[in-house]
Amino acid sequence: MTEYEPVIGLEVHAQLITNSKMFCSCPADYQSAPPNTHVCPVCLGLPGTLPVINSEAIKKIILTGLALNCSIAEQTKFDRKSYPYPDLMKGYQISQFDLPICYDGHLDIDVDGEARRIGIERIHMEEDVAKLFHRTEAGSGEGYALVDVNRAGVPLMEMVGRPDIRSAEEARQYLVAYRSILQYIGVSTGSMEEGSFRCDANVSIRPKGVLEYGTKVEVKNMNSFRAVFHAIEFEIERQSKVLNEGGRIVQETRGWVEAKGETISLRSKEKANDYRFFPEPDLPPLIVKQSWVAEIAELLPELPIERRVRFEDELGLSPYDAGQVTASPRLADYYESVIQHYIEINGPSGTIAKSAANWTITELGRLSNDGQIPVEDSPLKAEYLAELIGLIDQKIIGTSQAKIAAESMFTTGKSAKITVEELGLAQITDSSAIGDAVREVIEANPSAVADYMAGKETAAKFFVGQVMKVTKGKANPTIVSELIIEQLEAKK
Ligand SMILES: [Zn+2]
Repeated sequence: MTEYEPVIGLEVHAQLITNSKMFCSCPADYQSAPPNTHVCPVCLGLPGTLPVINSEAIKKIILTGLALNCSIAEQTKFDRKSYPYPDLMKGYQISQFDLPICYDGHLDIDVDGEARRIGIERIHMEEDVAKLFHRTEAGSGEGYALVDVNRAGVPLMEMVGRPDIRSAEEARQYLVAYRSILQYIGVSTGSMEEGSFRCDANVSIRPKGVLEYGTKVEVKNMNSFRAVFHAIEFEIERQSKVLNEGGRIVQETRGWVEAKGETISLRSKEKANDYRFFPEPDLPPLIVKQSWVAEIAELLPELPIERRVRFEDELGLSPYDAGQVTASPRLADYYESVIQHYIEINGPSGTIAKSAANWTITELGRLSNDGQIPVEDSPLKAEYLAELIGLIDQKIIGTSQAKIAAESMFTTGKSAKITVEELGLAQITDSSAIGDAVREVIEANPSAVADYMAGKETAAKFFVGQVMKVTKGKANPTIVSELIIEQLEAKK
């Protein structure tokens, strides 16, 4: 069987965060408003109206281009993309054809420790379209669609990546990295679930070693990072199977069906629409002054990769930990705030960077998944996590007690001290109380005592386990071990 190499390129649409729409003064916030209330003659495409370019959107796409190492065009323009579909009020979409604002950039990612540079062909500006809601008539079973125009005209940025991606995992990492950059620079919410961040994938395969590209298939309808990964995996396997069985790949658009875990054919690309692009006659060419680009460049904040490297260098985090805590800017802020609060309460520490990372990634990560709420939005404030880690370090509570406390704090938002007190989680460090428990356990298990006397070292561990059970896990384990050995040795 021939071994194939996948060739993947992603096209990603991201809505920009602006107050108003791309070409009119309607509010761009389309989710919270009742349907068809954020509309005006311009975004309805009524005759006699004229679009006006939203400069805030242009500023944000330039900021994105700079963060992705793109060149910024000095002269650019808008074009009409014509196609008949009920989500297009005007019968055309204002987009950019041959002169995108940003071009020739790249995004560096790290896949399993290997650095990969993925080229970016272009990032251009366009407007979002209306939203269709497909319904079925209860009686007749007939289908119909409702149109909400609120979304029409919302600034939409399309990034077209070069076909440099070679696996589904690379595609996922690249998408995560791109989303992370958009969030760091504050231009988009990047939510795939809410539809403010959408991705299509062009997937083809070719025999290993061959330079010529295979026939590509466009995959749509992927609503999560997981879906992108699985849809690409599926498509690579499907295409390999077709070729291995002597068939040929049809150039087409396929849709990912989440419930079935497969892609299905939507339409043949050979009958693709002719969009009849031509320069938008209602908008003048856009001249981007280099002095303005320089001003925008000044606004670039610390990017995810820079923050990751800083966490590795300054805090000594491993590349994995640093990557995890910098996944979103707000999570990274949360993590840094935990360290800051810890130092304020307990003074400098050589271990807080690592333990704060462990708690944020592992324990809070699990609670965050279970509760479907980001760590940084949970009621558990950074200062209380710092307090909790402090209590462990001062040996007031053990790690397993701390986990119980964290789980409670994650929903109640109470402080660590109050939670530990209310749940009675403080460690027993009183030697006489622990000594009593040790005596009790030794008396109850004469055969284990005999084992110990016969030189079986595991017997001591057995006693530790029993004492922890009797004290409900609250006894200080170091003191428990010491007292067990002391009392057993005294019996010799
Ligand atoms: Zn409008």
